[in-house]
Amino acid sequence: MQSTMMQVPLNVAHLLERGRLFFGSHEIVSRLPDKSLARTNFAAIHDRARRLAKALVAAGVKPGDAVGTFMWNSSWHLEAYFGIPVAGAVLHTINLRLSPQDIAYIVEDAGDRIILVDDVLLPLFEKVLPFTKVERIIVVPTSGAPVPDGYESYEDFIAEDASDYQYPQLDENAPCGMCYTSGTVGRPKGVVHSHRAVVLHALSVSLPDCLNLSCHDSVFVVTPMFHVNAWGVPFAAAMVGCSLQFPGQHMGAEDLLDIMESEKVTLALGVPTIWMSIRQTLDRQPDRWKLGHGTRMMVGGAAVNPALVGGLEAHGLSIKHGWGMTELTPVGTLSWLKPEHTSLPAEQQYEIRARQGLPIPLMELRIMGDDGVQPWDGQSVGELQVRGPIVTGGYHNQPTTEDKLTADGWFRTGDVASIDAEGYMRISDRTKDLIKSGGEWISSVDLENAIMGHPAVAEAAVIAVQHPRWDERPLAVVVKREGQKVTADDLRAFIAPRFAKWQLPDDFIFVDSLPHTSTGKFLKTALRQQFKDYVSSAP
Ligand code: ADP
Repeated sequence: MQSTMMQVPLNVAHLLERGRLFFGSHEIVSRLPDKSLARTNFAAIHDRARRLAKALVAAGVKPGDAVGTFMWNSSWHLEAYFGIPVAGAVLHTINLRLSPQDIAYIVEDAGDRIILVDDVLLPLFEKVLPFTKVERIIVVPTSGAPVPDGYESYEDFIAEDASDYQYPQLDENAPCGMCYTSGTVGRPKGVVHSHRAVVLHALSVSLPDCLNLSCHDSVFVVTPMFHVNAWGVPFAAAMVGCSLQFPGQHMGAEDLLDIMESEKVTLALGVPTIWMSIRQTLDRQPDRWKLGHGTRMMVGGAAVNPALVGGLEAHGLSIKHGWGMTELTPVGTLSWLKPEHTSLPAEQQYEIRARQGLPIPLMELRIMGDDGVQPWDGQSVGELQVRGPIVTGGYHNQPTTEDKLTADGWFRTGDVASIDAEGYMRISDRTKDLIKSGGEWISSVDLENAIMGHPAVAEAAVIAVQHPRWDERPLAVVVKREGQKVTADDLRAFIAPRFAKWQLPDDFIFVDSLPHTSTGKFLKTALRQQFKDYVSSAP
């Protein structure tokens, strides 16, 4: 065969080096436990990440070994994002909002040898101790307090100069990081991302129609770094040199808005529940914060409704909706307008932007129905299946089975979706959340989005409840916005024009709050449990 290009493996070390070489002075800002702001930059992150790598190697960590992090979003966590992979080890970000049992399970399953823990998280972490395989626990003193007796200090651990540190030569398919699914539909499962996937994903997600990331951006990473790599943005940030803002443990709407104003944030990332509370806060105090007009907000992890897109637009904030999964790296699709849409009325534009969107480059989508691959007509629904170099080939410590990977090499997402003629994908449900009424499927997500479009509604989740004749019927569980009045009849009348009569919920129950998963999705398993004896009032 003729010689083609150099065989240079894709590696996260390249991103770290770019961050220092070209954007060393660009700022990384972390909110500390006492709410003050700590400032550092890519040059310092580069130095400290390499010290961490050198210390891990000296501690006997071998290529492919897992090193855990139990940390809030901060510059220290960013050091770990780079320092662990450039030691050749596997960055295992532990989701601190999981139950102690689930955390204990994933630490064992991942085989973590060392875990880095924020000092303020030690009380939570100690609930999970002891572990059988973990050799060292290293405490990161983000609060500035002395490290408690009996623990090693991170600052001591990384004290040695690392200017002589040599990156290990790794195959580009070597593991770089591992994340566990949040277990919305079962026990958390480990997904191992390769260096190659992380680099390709960073390139893809940064493109103009995707997140349009550049060295001019100031990016607020509200989405947790302990879940799906904070959507891969920390890696992309070092590559393009955007400055980064981290909220630490302070996730209240006012705290977030303060940072968006003071740090001139141009792109913020978070799940819909965060932006819903931002919207409510801005509706109450529209003039309190001065936000750069056109600040982008990437919203994903759960569906966005057009009302939220429009509601934030009114405050000068522009939503970019995306869909992803731990099993990708993790972004799969993002929604953006094409030139032919820009003259459409605002409502239609919001509707397009609220779709899950177009696949990012390197991602392929198809819809599989009972009778095979479905046409892209916006109507035909089936299971969403995906393929590409940024899609997992299987789960950690589990055999690959056909209920996850098809014989012809597509990953089965467990999401139910359609794709329209222009290529926009819309999720209608998770397979397990669909409601089967009288043999016909009803999409809970479509009902939720429609109900959440009502101005008096803060949040709404729809689940199936039992019915003697129809088998299952939809029940809407609704949280009203503060100080608002609305009845079941009002809501039914409001959404009626968009649904067939048999698809409308028979019952609406008003509650003070809805259960959410650790990553901001409605916890439908808990709702179904709560209403397991509820019988629909449908005739
Ligand atoms: P888990 O599978 O445990 O919930 P993930 O965070 O990997 O953990 O969740 C991925 C799932 O989240 C997707 O399969 C999909 O059901 C849901 N999801 C993510 N983003 C969106 C979105 N924009 N709209 C609707 N559902 C979404």
